[in-house]
This record gives sequence, structure tokens and C-alpha cells, in this order.
Amino acid sequence: MLSTKVSRYDIISQQEKALRRMARYGEKSSPWVKRQLKDAGLRADDIKSAQDLAKIPFTTKETLRENYPFGLLACPLDKVVRFHASSGTTGKSTVVYYTQDDINVWSGLMARVLKTTGLTNKDIMQIIYNYGFFTGGFGFHYGAERLGISVIPSGSGNTKKQLEIMRDFKTTSFTSTPSYALHLAEVAVEEGIDPERDLNLRQGVFGGEPWSDALRKQIEGSLGIDAYDNYGLSEMCGPGLACECEQKEGLHFWEDYFILEVIDPKTGEVLEEGEKGELVFTPLWKEAMPLLRYRTRDISRIITEECDCGLPFRRIERITGRSDDMLIIKGVNIFPSQIEEVISRHPAFQGHYQILVEKKGFMDTLTINMEITDELFSGNLRDLLKVQRELEESIRSTFFISADVKLVEEGSMPRSVGKAQRVIDLRGDNNDNRS
Ligand SMILES: [Zn+2]
Repeated sequence: MLSTKVSRYDIISQQEKALRRMARYGEKSSPWVKRQLKDAGLRADDIKSAQDLAKIPFTTKETLRENYPFGLLACPLDKVVRFHASSGTTGKSTVVYYTQDDINVWSGLMARVLKTTGLTNKDIMQIIYNYGFFTGGFGFHYGAERLGISVIPSGSGNTKKQLEIMRDFKTTSFTSTPSYALHLAEVAVEEGIDPERDLNLRQGVFGGEPWSDALRKQIEGSLGIDAYDNYGLSEMCGPGLACECEQKEGLHFWEDYFILEVIDPKTGEVLEEGEKGELVFTPLWKEAMPLLRYRTRDISRIITEECDCGLPFRRIERITGRSDDMLIIKGVNIFPSQIEEVISRHPAFQGHYQILVEKKGFMDTLTINMEITDELFSGNLRDLLKVQRELEESIRSTFFISADVKLVEEGSMPRSVGKAQRVIDLRGDNNDNRS
């Protein structure tokens, strides 16, 4: 594991060495990388630094679909020790493969993630992620074991049982989606459990869906923990690309294992450092599935200032959304997370809401259903109308479009065990329910 004493110069030279090695290996072993280089009229030896990557065409989710199942394999199948897959709701699923070396590096990267969020071998971590084709469960599991954490592979679901395990095993940390963490806090209250008094939790590492700082505060307040964001995607390995340190001001990404470019999602051009755009990663270590320039569809920017924690790796801002998730409502581009950011500033916000977009005639309409406390719901009608008006006004003044805000009873929204479905777009043409 790299210490904080490593300089940026060391990282860049290590990165360039690894890129040159990767390009040569890809050209020799991967039909896909060979084609990427050929299409650009280049040989592997022409790739000397991160800047040279800009000459090469992108790898996309479509590339993975077209090459289903084994088209991106760069080694004999008998060297592969693991498959993971995602079952897209649109089109074919995509598959990723790992050799033992790939798994070893991934475990090391995940151990680094967990260490950066302050975990040590004294911790007891409950992994409330699916163990299956999805990479989350295994990624955290292997990384936590590597760091010497005591792992409880409880898997997803059965919230009451999860709480019982937490209490009995004195769990100090857990990982899940942020929306599930909020659900867990609610069930704890229903079960008469006071998390701060009855449980041993001190922190949690969350991801798998975009979440705002307001939701973080909600989770931290209701469970009495520190909540950290982490980032990854199965095409790179799974979780393990980036995470927050104890400063919670952006996610450090592992520049000795990945090169990150930020591009304009419309033109594909590389943006200036610090500008906001789509993240494109090139992994520098993959044996079974090397690829260059993978378009993630995730929107963020590189934070150029050094972090107070002293880690030499730069940071990205928390992901505000995926370019595919962006809604165009009445001609205005809005990410669902931006709506969350606005409504969550209101004191009546409880963490549960749903965004409904419809078409009435030629007009888009935006409705936000938001849960409020029983006390407010059954209280004075005037107070209720006031909250409604304030929320509608804050949407109007932020996005310059009108919205109907409907305040609904506590507990009336569906609770998710995995990723929360926050957006329902009924306009047909714009309907993209990703997995
Ligand atoms: Zn830091």
C-alpha cells in the first residue's frame, strides 16, 4: 500500500510505465485493444503518456454488449477464476472476467478504500450487499479480509435480522446502498432499537447510487455514524476506484492503477483539468480484460487542490448523476440528485421522495412526492400548505421551471433493499430505467 510520502512525480512516472506495459500487453493479447489502436493508426509503442490516450477511440457499454460473452478476453479461459455480470434492463447483459492476479489487485484496491475511510483490523464489518453476479458483495468482502477486518457476509435483505446480527456481533461498520442505510435506521426505530445506545456502529461505507450530502447527514444523524462515499464500476473491477477520506470532501482515486480523463459527453473531447464532464477510465493492470478509455457515463470533475489528509492521490467530486440519468424537463437539463439537493434543504425533508415526470399534451410536468412526519401530516393545514409552497418556490427559483409538490404520509413510499427508484418518467421517449 502506498504511503502518504509518495510524491505526485512518483505516481505519474509509475502511471506512465504501467500504461506503456498495458498498451503492449493489450496489443498482443486483446483483439479489442488491438482494434482500438489500429483504428487510431497507432502501435502500442506510440502510447507513452496519458495525453496519448486522447488519440484512441473509446470503449463503451455497447462494446461490452457486442462482445458478449468472451469477446474481450485477453488470456486463455483456463486462467479466468471469476465472472461477474450485470443484467441490463435494456439489451444484453455485460460480462467481466478476472484472473487470480486481477482478483489480487482488486482486493488490494478495496483494502486501500476501507483503510482510507478509517477502518482497521479491529473493526467488524457487515456486508449488506448481494453476493452474486453483482460485484459489490465480493469486492468489499475480499478487501475487508485483506485489511484484517472481521467480515460478516450477511448479504442483502431481512432488515430485522441484519439489526439482530449488528447487536449480537457488535458490528462497528457496514456497507450497503445509502437508501438502504436509511431504511435500516427506520426499522431500528420501529423495533425499539436506539442505534447509538444499543449498537456498536461507528461508520459505514456507501455507494452504488448517487446520493447527496443531505442524505449523508440524515444517515449519520439517524445511526450515529460517519458515512463515507465510495465509487467503482464493474467494467473496471467493481467497487475500489475511489473513496472519501476522513475529510469527506471528494473521493481520492487510485492514480497508480487507473488513468482518468474527463470528457465533454457530447463531443468526446478531453476537458481542462477541473472542468465538469464524463469520467473516462483506463485501468493499468488488467490481465483478463484490458481495455483503454472506458466511458462511464458518470458526471464529475477532478478537484485540483491537495487534500488536508495528505494522500498524494487527487480527488473527484461526488458523482452528481449519470449522463444517461439526466432529465430534460421543459427543455431544462436536470439531474435527479440536483432536485434532491434542493428539497433536502427544507427542514420537512425526511429522506424519502419520488420524482414523477409526465407529459400532458405537449407539456412536461414535474411532480415531487415527498414524505413528511406524521406530526406535520396530521397537523394544521396551513402549515402543510406553507411547506408545499416553500418547496415549489425553491424548485422554481433554482431550475426556472414549475413543479407540483405533494406531501405524503410517513412510510407511504416504497422502501428499497437495493438501489432506490427515485425517478418515474412516464413520457415514453425519455424512459430509461437502468439497472
Ligand atoms: Zn483526503
